[in-house]
Amino acid sequence: MSEDGAPGFSLELTEDVQQVKDWVHEFAKDVIRPAGEEWDEREETPWPVLQEAAKIGLYSLDFFANQWFEPSGLGIPVAFEELFWGDAGIGLSLVGSGLAAVSVAATGLPEQIAEWVPEMFGTADEVKLGAFCASEPDAGSDVGSIRTRAEYDQAKDEWVINGTKTWATNGGIANVHVVVASVDPDLGSRGQANFIVPPGTPGLSQGQKFKKHGIRASHTAEVILDNVRVPGACLVGGKDKLDERLARVREGKRAAGQAAMRTFEASRPTVGAMAVGIARAAYEYALDYAREREQFGKKIGDFQAIAFKLADMKMHLDAARLLVWRAAWMARNGKEFGSAEGSMAKLYAGETAVKVTEEAIQILGGNGYTRDYPVERWHRDSKIFTIFEGTSEIQRLVIGRTVTGLPVR
Ligand SMILES: Cc1cc2nc3c(=O)[nH]c(=O)nc-3n(C[C@H](O)[C@H](O)[C@H](O)COP(=O)(O)OP(=O)(O)OC[C@H]3O[C@@H](n4cnc5c(N)ncnc54)[C@H](O)[C@@H]3O)c2cc1C
Repeated sequence: MSEDGAPGFSLELTEDVQQVKDWVHEFAKDVIRPAGEEWDEREETPWPVLQEAAKIGLYSLDFFANQWFEPSGLGIPVAFEELFWGDAGIGLSLVGSGLAAVSVAATGLPEQIAEWVPEMFGTADEVKLGAFCASEPDAGSDVGSIRTRAEYDQAKDEWVINGTKTWATNGGIANVHVVVASVDPDLGSRGQANFIVPPGTPGLSQGQKFKKHGIRASHTAEVILDNVRVPGACLVGGKDKLDERLARVREGKRAAGQAAMRTFEASRPTVGAMAVGIARAAYEYALDYAREREQFGKKIGDFQAIAFKLADMKMHLDAARLLVWRAAWMARNGKEFGSAEGSMAKLYAGETAVKVTEEAIQILGGNGYTRDYPVERWHRDSKIFTIFEGTSEIQRLVIGRTVTGLPVR
């Protein structure tokens, strides 16, 4: 326990977190891992796996909420590492709704959270999804240039949304979409707000579904918004808060836009944890292989060249997990990220996953390069972690700006 009453940082998992880790690991080993190859080839959302996860309460709002509020902050990182150890594409399908849920839970009114977040998960009998739609064809890293426009129709107390979103995980197949739109384009990212688009709202449709390099068991698509009308109550956080925020920004005062960025920073360790899961899967597989495979009359693990690779893989994997856990503990316990620790964790873990999975292919030689072995899939899956949720370059910008205090470009 620290002076301010928050649980101190410990590498020893609490009994509750350890139990969750074991439980999620069993599901990952018995259900997710065996299904990974099939759903990667099918390039579809693995509904049967989601249903099985829902039946045991793993794909549920309760599970996510309990882990999110777990006091040490390690509930989510530990669970996500296990899921992605099982398979990253299926893992992303299992946690994809979480991003949409957090976008409402973080700044939504209590009644919005109560109404819409459960709709992003559904029930064990009827599994549902949520999608968070920020990126656009001309607004990826540069979120300030989002063109999707939301205009208020005062007479009807409705918002009218028009624009095209891209790269949306679960886009078009989700029950609830959360759409980031500009309400005042002159204010860039500070003139934006999140809108809930309820199920079946006319004007929302799926555009192109992308065929991807990796995480192919997760659905990624464009979302078209053509005169989509949503009730005033679907503006996340409510109109009074928005008007107040816009007024502050127009007066040149610090506004909650920066608070949204802080929320984003706080969620980055969870993305790092997913990357740690893939890296661990590849490391363990390569380790077993190096202990079995013989060349020149020896186990290949006897060759320094291979043992040194394994040493580096394990070191980077452990370092990545430590950064993730530190940032997750800080975020949960309200510690200010003085050196962009959330970005550090996501950046290091993402690049570690790419490096470790590549080395795993090298250790497996020709076998590693084929689809008969899982490491090539894990390598394809790992690459997304240097791209989404802020590219590696953007993470370095954030860290660079934070540590120097300069407006690094
Ligand atoms: C599989 C997948 C799932 C996704 N899921 C979602 C989702 O659910 N919701 C959502 O809203 N988005 C999602 N995204 C979008 C993702 O967040 C963006 O792809 C990402 O932010 C990068 O944007 P971009 O692709 O437009 O690349 P760009 O921003 O065009 O970047 C291209 C290159 O330029 C570099 N670059 C850009 N600006 C700078 C700079 N200032 N300094 C240095 N380098 C720079 C980038 O680092 C990158 O290397 C997903 C993407 C993928 C591929």
